[in-house]
Amino acid sequence: MIQYFFSFLPENNLVDIRILIPKVQEKSLELHLPMWRPGRYQLQNFVKNVLNFSARVQNGEKLEWRKSQKNIWQVADTQDKNVEIRYQYFAKELNAGSSFVNKHFLYVNPVNLCLYLPKLINETFEVNIYRESTESEYSGGLGVVSYGNTLKLQPKDFHHFFDSPFIISKGILHERFSVGEVWFHVWIEGVFQIDKQRLIRDLSKIAETQIRIFGEFPEQDYHFMLIVPENTFYHGVEHRNSTVMVLGENGVLPETYYNDLLGLASHELFHAWNIAKIRPKELLPYDYGKENYFETCFVAEGFTTYYGDKILLESGVIGYEEYLHELETTFRRHFEESDNASQSLLESSFDLWVDGYEKGTPNKKVSVYSKGAIVALILDLKIRAKFKEKKSLDHVMKVLWKRYGDMKRGYTYLDIQKIAERVYGENLREYFEIAIEGNGSIFDYTSSHLVYLGLQLEWIEDKCRLKVL
Ligand SMILES: [Zn+2]
Repeated sequence: MIQYFFSFLPENNLVDIRILIPKVQEKSLELHLPMWRPGRYQLQNFVKNVLNFSARVQNGEKLEWRKSQKNIWQVADTQDKNVEIRYQYFAKELNAGSSFVNKHFLYVNPVNLCLYLPKLINETFEVNIYRESTESEYSGGLGVVSYGNTLKLQPKDFHHFFDSPFIISKGILHERFSVGEVWFHVWIEGVFQIDKQRLIRDLSKIAETQIRIFGEFPEQDYHFMLIVPENTFYHGVEHRNSTVMVLGENGVLPETYYNDLLGLASHELFHAWNIAKIRPKELLPYDYGKENYFETCFVAEGFTTYYGDKILLESGVIGYEEYLHELETTFRRHFEESDNASQSLLESSFDLWVDGYEKGTPNKKVSVYSKGAIVALILDLKIRAKFKEKKSLDHVMKVLWKRYGDMKRGYTYLDIQKIAERVYGENLREYFEIAIEGNGSIFDYTSSHLVYLGLQLEWIEDKCRLKVL
């Protein structure tokens, strides 16, 4: 079995990685570094942080190697040998999807820095993580199989490891709660001025509400991992049974960020179903070597953004006024910035890989997050109005979960249309043409649906406002 050994050089912000590959059959080996990470649909340059690569026979002579592409290392003359690869990764950038090592804590996103053999991507392997002191606690979605100075992990395959970031820290705070059979862990690294008990209570209400929508939780446990950074930051990344959130202002997480924290946690938890499991066809499985274009990010991110906020209201952790404020913020993001954009939601989803995470060309793209959340709201209101609250978008989510939750196949845009129409009980062509495929303004269309909630959109001095009728 392949073994990985991680150790750390905090004073230099380095992760040292050693890989032992036993009894290699092939004449040469190809090691790849991922070109992107799930959750951010854009190529990244992790490889710029790799240094001191070397290859040798275990305890023996050096092996020749060369790079064939910027993220691919080819090692020659490997047949019948136990091969040892070694390199370091410079980990000095802190966001929810990066790796960061300093004297206080170690934060590793394996997808940033783990070289893998594409042929063995579905095989299990062993990871050994060396920690200076046993007082340093490990937190992460991937369970530890043996403790000591060296922590041993055994991911099911590389997808599992890539989706299981971990933190090792002496000072990390740990709380937990359960909902039914499922244990939820809360890990907090950094200075935190929020009432812990209130947070645990509210997170458990949020988890309960989400589990009620889908009928079950996809995993046995879940980890909310929060890092309060030195600078000001607001970022979260979803994983199969965890999320990492980097949130705070000048080195502290003040009480004023409470609703932001709940909103982020709710959004990321919803992803445990919607993207970690229920996944577009094009992303199943993930191909870490290139762009994975897909048109349906309004489901993965738009629906999740809509539910992230709606669940705060439904679980009672925020009031109606606060919810309307969140809704208005979503409307303002879309209507004040991109209601006249030239792309449809489908086009902007595909182009996430082009310029999805930057400001980009004016009047070109729409946000899959904010326009995606608005079209989710419209679909929800259509269903709720027709069935007088007996059905809602929850039914669409539940069908998606039942049909795609086992990850045997992914959905297409056509599948989404069919499922929505089945729940609605009639044709929804007009909705899909206007809201998803079209590039015209959806201001009046949205406002006309909001009437069902006794709300309306209006423009006041170039600002989009939500008016209670
Ligand atoms: Zn998201």
